[in-house]
Amino acid sequence: MKINYLTQGLVKKNYICSLFGHQYVEIKTVNAHFKEFECKNCRMQATNDSVGQKIKLTSELKDINETLFYLYLKRQFLAKFYFEKKEQ
Ligand SMILES: [Zn+2]
Repeated sequence: MKINYLTQGLVKKNYICSLFGHQYVEIKTVNAHFKEFECKNCRMQATNDSVGQKIKLTSELKDINETLFYLYLKRQFLAKFYFEKKEQ
């Protein structure tokens, strides 16, 4: 059985994840395209890339997501107060 380098370090710690894959639950919605997930077995955090693949959530990616989330909130805010009348 071939194990890729990302899961190799987790084999001893959590063999369930290495056998069956991580059981991700959504912990945060960044915007319409990006979400953050956490494995309920080993607590590994992940996010999804632009094509929807799950990737390990590094501190660098976390910073990017924070920025995206801020921009998303800002856009929601602007949409609510400046474009509300247009839609009615
Ligand atoms: Zn896991």
